[in-house]
Amino acid sequence: MDARTVGLDALPWQQSYATLPERLYKRVGPRPAPAPGWIRLNHAVARSLRIDPASLAGPDGLAVLAGNRVPAAAEPLAQAYAGHQFGHFVPQLGDGRALLLGELTDSTGIRRDVQLKGSGPTPFSRGGDGRAPIGPVIREYLGSEALAGLGVATTRALAAVTTGGTVYRWQPEPGGVLARVAASHLRVGTFEYAAARGDDAGVRALADYALDLHYPDRAGAEHPYQALLQGVAEATADLVADWMLVGFIHGVMNTDNLAIAGETLDYGPFGFMDAFDPATVYSSIDTQGRYAYDQQPVMAEWNLARLAEALLPLLGTGREQALARAHEALACFRPRFEARHQAGLRARIGLAEGRDGDDALVNDLLRRMAEQGADWTLTFRRLSELPSGTAEADGPVRRLFQDPAAFDGWAASWRQRLAAEVRSDARRRTAMRAVSPAYTLRNHLAQWAVDAATERLDFAPMGQLLQVLAEPYADHPGWEHLAQPPRPEARVTRTFCGT
Ligand code: AMP
Ligand code: MG
Repeated sequence: MDARTVGLDALPWQQSYATLPERLYKRVGPRPAPAPGWIRLNHAVARSLRIDPASLAGPDGLAVLAGNRVPAAAEPLAQAYAGHQFGHFVPQLGDGRALLLGELTDSTGIRRDVQLKGSGPTPFSRGGDGRAPIGPVIREYLGSEALAGLGVATTRALAAVTTGGTVYRWQPEPGGVLARVAASHLRVGTFEYAAARGDDAGVRALADYALDLHYPDRAGAEHPYQALLQGVAEATADLVADWMLVGFIHGVMNTDNLAIAGETLDYGPFGFMDAFDPATVYSSIDTQGRYAYDQQPVMAEWNLARLAEALLPLLGTGREQALARAHEALACFRPRFEARHQAGLRARIGLAEGRDGDDALVNDLLRRMAEQGADWTLTFRRLSELPSGTAEADGPVRRLFQDPAAFDGWAASWRQRLAAEVRSDARRRTAMRAVSPAYTLRNHLAQWAVDAATERLDFAPMGQLLQVLAEPYADHPGWEHLAQPPRPEARVTRTFCGT
């Protein structure tokens, strides 16, 4: 056993959430699964929580992960939250198919939530069965590990198991449980829940808790709740910029799915873009394109305004002062998002320093990519392989554009600009590779893994994907096919939520 990890029964479970007012959660245990089995255990995440992977891999570990055994020191609970879903307020949502098993302190000293998702009904199930089919469980596992590998803030997958039970959706499907790890499960909707009930004390308790947990350096600010709001706005701006840079579309940016900690939360009908189209929507329920790729910053800002509304009673004495402080705090969002987004794009085309005209150069490339259906991931990756001195080797990038000449026009301006760079060509290319992944979780690949699992309980494709997604900036000889866009007949244009 690893000296720094401990067995399951010796884990120091905490439940700080239970120190909050009782009206914000309900104590409830998992509903046992008939015949649990393994899908996948994430050894690295287990070790980061100081859990001995061997103890989790045994029968007791499986029982805990399936909800058949609650660790001795854990006191599970379901969290209450509300949320704006597609713009409409729903005053009561909450953990309807999930529960917070407890918290563990990770190897860096940070407290993390361990949540079981698909572990049976709770008082918040609203008639739902509290269960999850293995398809969405595997999609969330893959999606969160893909973003983690790319370096984007996200909840993590600790494990996925089968329950041995059947879940009825469009058709009968095998049931599963995802164990996920998060900085917290506080959402914008958590604050809206208390605010909608006129529960100022509840809002304050949540805000103090969030400050303490996620923004401790702001707790001593002159206006700590304004500082909290600004902290969430900054973290969210960074997160959404990072999503955009890797071509990620969350799919359901309802306020109940936006985490206060700035982590990607709740993977439903998400997707990674193949051909670049700013209007891309994958979610089958998003018929209006509300949460399309290029709407994500706008929707994040909209969600933050809902958080500001919930926090208003804490922001000042009197409505006018509170509103002024809210506006001031949220004003950081746009510039922060733009700066990170543009800096990321500049790095992807190999520019070390910013100069006048760089943004126009980047935007010109994006416009051509969109018009020509160029693959988001491969365009930048292959660009990193091109020398600055000659266009002779441009073929692999040109071929990504329906009309290859559309790339040539841009490439000439790009090379002109590169001539002004002081960095050597070799160093530029290394730097470009480090920010331009070869691999993302393309929808057809996620579908391949889900189909194999659902049809024959075959988890090998999932395992293969995880291997490349853990290091998406590296080349993986022999696995080049996993970096390719789908053939036309394999394209997945719609994804479904996790229900
Ligand atoms: P989500 O689609 O994950 O954002 O969930 C929205 C809300 O629906 C949350 O309150 C969930 O807990 C609840 N929910 C989703 N699926 C189920 C289910 N199968 N049983 C009970 N509640 C569910
Ligand atoms: Mg959700």
